[in-house]
Amino acid sequence: MARYNGPVCRLCRREGTKLFLKGERCYSEKCSFDRRPYPPGMHGQGRMRASDYRDQLREKQKVKRIYGVLEKQFRLYFQRADRAKGVTGENLLALLERRLDNVVYRLGMASSRTEARQLVRHNHFTVNGRKVNIPSYSVRPGDVVAVKERSRKVGRIVASLEAADRRPRPSWLDMNKKDWTGTVKGEPVRDELTLPINEQLIVELYSK
Ligand code: SF4
Repeated sequence: MARYNGPVCRLCRREGTKLFLKGERCYSEKCSFDRRPYPPGMHGQGRMRASDYRDQLREKQKVKRIYGVLEKQFRLYFQRADRAKGVTGENLLALLERRLDNVVYRLGMASSRTEARQLVRHNHFTVNGRKVNIPSYSVRPGDVVAVKERSRKVGRIVASLEAADRRPRPSWLDMNKKDWTGTVKGEPVRDELTLPINEQLIVELYSK
């Protein structure tokens, strides 16, 4: 499965905002964006030419990077969002939010989406009692995501759950730490996305 393997903090600096891709480090003083809040590279601090296309492209890249999705898969998400009823941009974000790796992260079972993706691939979770190791698996309202019994001693999961309360948990997810389970209570709520995203720019880009 293809994925980005390059320097991660560089992506935040390129997009001009913290994308929270590295778990605990993002909340510490070691955050590269806090120390160097300008684009990477030799001309990073130079003047950038403004254009609508540039804004649209950057917005798309930002969302892809937040959710760890590459171009081909992102375009498929957009096509599905476009075919569905409702507002395309909001449909797109809802599809991305419903990915299992995102849900594991949002429930606080992993410190970042990248870590969540790896933990899912390594078979640490079940959905409705059945093993699921596909990070892009799309959860539905009523689904129950659980940490497998044998995985409840995995240091990264335990540490993430302990630190999770510092992050806002969306109202459409409910975490029961005692049972190591999270329930999907409903559809993702657009207003509860904590990062600044202008999905309309992505719709404009793909509608050209
Ligand atoms: Fe981005 Fe986190 Fe790196 Fe800061 S530490 S630049 S928020 S990935």
